[in-house]
Amino acid sequence: MDLTFSERETAFRDELRAWLADNHPPAKPPADAGEDAQHAWRRDWQRHLYEAGWAAPAWPREYGGRGASQTESAIYFEEMGRARVPFAANTLGILLGGPTLMVWGTDEQKERHLPPILSAEEIWCQGFSEPEAGSDLASLKTRAVKDGEEWVVTGQKVWTSGAQYAKWCMLVARTDSEVPKHKGLTYFLMDMEQDAVQVRPLRQITGEAEFNELFIEQARIPEANVVGGVGNGWKVALTTLMNERAGLGFALQVRLRQLLDDVIAAAGEKGLLENPLIADQIAELHIRCETIRLLAWKGLTDAERYGQPGPEGSLVKWLWSDTNQRATQLAADVIGPEALTSGTQWSYELMRARGNTIEGGTTEVLKNIVAERVLGLPRLKVAA
Ligand SMILES: Cc1cc2nc3c(=O)[nH]c(=O)nc-3n(C[C@H](O)[C@H](O)[C@H](O)COP(=O)(O)OP(=O)(O)OC[C@H]3O[C@@H](n4cnc5c(N)ncnc54)[C@H](O)[C@@H]3O)c2cc1C
Repeated sequence: MDLTFSERETAFRDELRAWLADNHPPAKPPADAGEDAQHAWRRDWQRHLYEAGWAAPAWPREYGGRGASQTESAIYFEEMGRARVPFAANTLGILLGGPTLMVWGTDEQKERHLPPILSAEEIWCQGFSEPEAGSDLASLKTRAVKDGEEWVVTGQKVWTSGAQYAKWCMLVARTDSEVPKHKGLTYFLMDMEQDAVQVRPLRQITGEAEFNELFIEQARIPEANVVGGVGNGWKVALTTLMNERAGLGFALQVRLRQLLDDVIAAAGEKGLLENPLIADQIAELHIRCETIRLLAWKGLTDAERYGQPGPEGSLVKWLWSDTNQRATQLAADVIGPEALTSGTQWSYELMRARGNTIEGGTTEVLKNIVAERVLGLPRLKVAA
């Protein structure tokens, strides 16, 4: 792994840095403006990025990207993090849905769906988890039955982030219950704008309703919206999950570094840098941040070599979530009561971090993946 930038990469970074210096989003709406206002603000920001060709530089030019290399894409996330600009409103579409379609989608699906993902015209959500199928996704019960040229879907999804704004759902459903459970799944693009799909918000400890329950009662999906072929849903879903861990992991490690820098600045202001207990924790978190940064770069190098992110992304996601929780807890020790007062940025960070070790794969499950698929250890034997 060579971390020295080529001339082309340096030029890419300088162009983006200059653009960001001239194009900052307007101030974030206040927390009491509500979640719809926050979403609209991030959607406007994504449109602005899109018009300048900066919404997803790694995407091919024909779909609105810049055909950037993996390294340029990493530079992109670092610079966006450095400029402290928000994530695009359609992060799930850009980082998960689009890349999945690029691998498994038909030409028609790519032409139809990729441009509106990038322009934020159509927001995407991820309908994988169910009340009795989270980590064990292959146990899902939502059923799709063929009816002429359409599939009829009935079931329930849960924890569906952003479903209240989504036009399309990446939905995994069971299409065959006679075969082993992994083989009977199919990956669909479900139009959320139909009466058969009801979205009910679930309020989190932070007070916001970022995710939802989906109740699906005979929703209709045309055959043309099957992604990757009937019965191939497991493989297609793995592509989505690997992109989730690798792509989001890289973006998030930059935010983690900033959070830690803010904690260090706060500790300095309060004269706590000489306190051995605080200094010791800061040193450990600094080492972790650097380890995660280098692992994220290594993951990108592997993705460049093999064309797709590999299971190593699970390691970044696991370390990031654990370290982010520790950093927000240290912030509470350093900042004091303000970090525990509802409505403050620090209390939000502290509470939102609790979900980090669950979303995108729990820590326990990621450890199993790292043990088995990265380290080649024997498969876990679960006691009866
Ligand atoms: C903020 C947030 C946003 C989310 N957004 C989405 C979304 O947009 N779309 C979506 O589909 N899902 C989403 N999820 C759901 C998330 O993917 C699931 O919560 C996660 O996969 C865990 O599933 P579960 O909640 O059913 O827990 P379970 O799978 O029931 O796990 C319960 C406990 O058992 C442990 N466990 C389970 N299996 C094993 C094993 N084999 N070995 C060791 N331990 C094990 C787990 O680690 C956990 O501690 C979101 C979750 C959160 C917190």
